[in-house]
Amino acid sequence: MNSSILICGAGVAGLSTAHFLLRAGHAVTVVERSPTFRGGGQAVDVRGVALDVVARMGLLDAVREHRTRLKGMSMLDRDGRELSRNLERTMTGGRFDSGDVEIFRDDLCRLLMQGCGRAELIAGDYATALHDDGAGVDVHFASGTTRRFDLVIGADGLRSRTRRLAFDATDECVVELGAVLALFTAPNTKPLTDWELMYRDEARGVVAYPTIDNRELRVGVGFAADARALRGDEIRQKALVVEHCADLGGDWRTMLDALEAAPQFWFGEIAQVRLPRLHNGRVVLVGDAAYCASPFSGQGTSLALVGAFVLSESLASSGNDFAAAFAHYETRMRPFVDANQGLVDLTRVGPIPDEQMDAAKNGIVLDAA
Ligand SMILES: Cc1cc2nc3c(=O)[nH]c(=O)nc-3n(C[C@H](O)[C@H](O)[C@H](O)COP(=O)(O)OP(=O)(O)OC[C@H]3O[C@@H](n4cnc5c(N)ncnc54)[C@H](O)[C@@H]3O)c2cc1C
Repeated sequence: MNSSILICGAGVAGLSTAHFLLRAGHAVTVVERSPTFRGGGQAVDVRGVALDVVARMGLLDAVREHRTRLKGMSMLDRDGRELSRNLERTMTGGRFDSGDVEIFRDDLCRLLMQGCGRAELIAGDYATALHDDGAGVDVHFASGTTRRFDLVIGADGLRSRTRRLAFDATDECVVELGAVLALFTAPNTKPLTDWELMYRDEARGVVAYPTIDNRELRVGVGFAADARALRGDEIRQKALVVEHCADLGGDWRTMLDALEAAPQFWFGEIAQVRLPRLHNGRVVLVGDAAYCASPFSGQGTSLALVGAFVLSESLASSGNDFAAAFAHYETRMRPFVDANQGLVDLTRVGPIPDEQMDAAKNGIVLDAA
C-alpha cells in the first residue's frame, strides 16, 4: 500500500529518503524549516557503501562530476610554514585512490533535489506537535495548519525537533563531545588553488581549502571547549575562536583576520546522537537526527544516504507493516552506526586510520535480507 509520508528536513537525509520513497510510489511531503531549501558551506564525503546508494539513485556520475578538485594538502606549522606535503590525500576528503567523493553539501543537495520533483515541498514551516492515534499522525505546523499523514520521518538534523516531539523531549540522546567546530568563509588572497592547508596540535585543528572555482576559502577551526552558553551569540563565538587561535601566524592569521566580517559563519558543538530506538509508533528518524556521528567522523553524509536507502527498502519489503519495517531498519543500521560513530577520537592528531575508515564505510551490505 502506498502511504502519505511527511519528511521533516530537506538535508541529505530528507532529500535522499524522499527520492527512494517517491520511487516506491508513496505520496511524499517534505517540510523544511528554512525559508529556502538551503545550501550549506562545507565539503562532505560520500564513501564506501554510500556510493552504491548514490548509484542506485542514478546520480553517481553527476556526483563525481561535482566533486571537489583538491589535488593534495600541506601540513603547516603555527606560523604558516610548510612542514610537509601530501599528493595522495587531503585531511577532509581522505585518500584520492579510494574512489570516495568529496563534494560541497549544497551541490549534493541540489542533485538530490532533482529526484524529488514529485514531492510536495514546503519551505519556511515546521511541525510543532505530532499526535499519533495509531491509525495516522496529525501534524500541527507552525504556520497554523494541521494535516494528517500515515507516517512521519524526522530528518531534521542533530537538534531534531521531530525527535523531541515524538520521543526524546529533553534531547537526552545528544552526547556532547566537549569540542566545537567553527566554519567560515575567507577571501582566497594568496591564492590557494585546488589545495588544502592543515594545522593540528593537541589543542586545535585548522583546515582551509578553496571552493571549486577557487574564489573563496572555507576555513574550519576545531578545539576543545564547552560552548553551550554561547549558543546563538555569534559575537562571543567568534571571540572564542580568535582566543583559541591567538598564537597562529602567517596565512592562518590572514584567514582569522577575515573572521569578523566573514559572509558565512557556522559554529556548532560537536555531539553524537545515541538513541536506544530510532522509531516510536508511526514516527521514525533518519540521518543526523537519528545517529549523528559528528563532523569529526567524516561519515555523516554517508550514514544519511545509507539510512535513507535502508529505511525505504525496509518499508518496501514489509507490506503494510510499518512497525516491522522500522524495527528492521533499526536492526540493520545499528552495527553500521556503531562503527561510524566509533571513528571519532578527539585525541587523535592525524587522520582516521585507513583500515578503520575502510571497515566503517563498508560496514553494511545493502542487499542483505
Ligand atoms: C560544519 C559541518 C561539517 C561537516 N563536515 C562533514 C564532512 O566532512 N563529511 C561528512 O560526511 N559530513 C560532514 N558533516 C555532516 C553532514 O553535513 C551531515 O551529517 C549529513 O549531511 C546528514 O545530514 P542530515 O540531512 O541528517 O541533517 P542536516 O544536514 O542537519 O539537515 C537537516 C535539515 O533539516 C532542517 N530542519 C531543521 N529543523 C527542522 C524542523 N524542525 N523542521 C523541518 N526542517 C528542519 C534543516 O534546516 C536542514 O535543512 C558536517 C556537518 C557540519 C555541520
